[in-house]
Amino acid sequence: MGEREHLNGAITQILREIKRCYQCGTCVSSCPVAKHEGRYNPRRILRRAQLENLEPLIGSDVIWLCTTCYTCVDRCPQSVGAANLILELRRMSVRGRKLPEGFIKIIEELKKDGYIYPIDSINRRRERMGLPPIVVGKKEEFEKILEGII
Ligand code: SF4
Ligand code: SF4
Repeated sequence: MGEREHLNGAITQILREIKRCYQCGTCVSSCPVAKHEGRYNPRRILRRAQLENLEPLIGSDVIWLCTTCYTCVDRCPQSVGAANLILELRRMSVRGRKLPEGFIKIIEELKKDGYIYPIDSINRRRERMGLPPIVVGKKEEFEKILEGII
């Protein structure tokens, strides 16, 4: 099975599962992110997905706020929760190259040096302190993993 088919299959299965959600709101009241971030509401994300209104969610920065703690799944009376749906929306966002700007910068850094932050300035500081430079990471491996994503 190709990756596209796998993705389509995964979202189709999740869309089927989330039909069990009856919008009780237990996931929102249990979610550690929703407690602190008013824009984040897993019940609302589920509702949108139930209505198959996925487009505004793909590429939205809101889906990256989830910590994937799975509390919503553990406490859901219908064994649904939002975590699996959100992970799938993230995969779809990555495949559609609709990532938050900060993530794109991190990926570019990984491909450049194998680190998630620029090492040039750190190495200059280390040199001034008489310390050896940070060794460039295994960027070829990251390039391979990230191939086709960005
Ligand atoms: S996912 Fe579960 S906890 Fe959340 S609103 Fe739906 S039924 Fe309630
Ligand atoms: S997995 Fe995400 S949506 Fe669910 S409770 Fe944790 S942070 Fe909230």
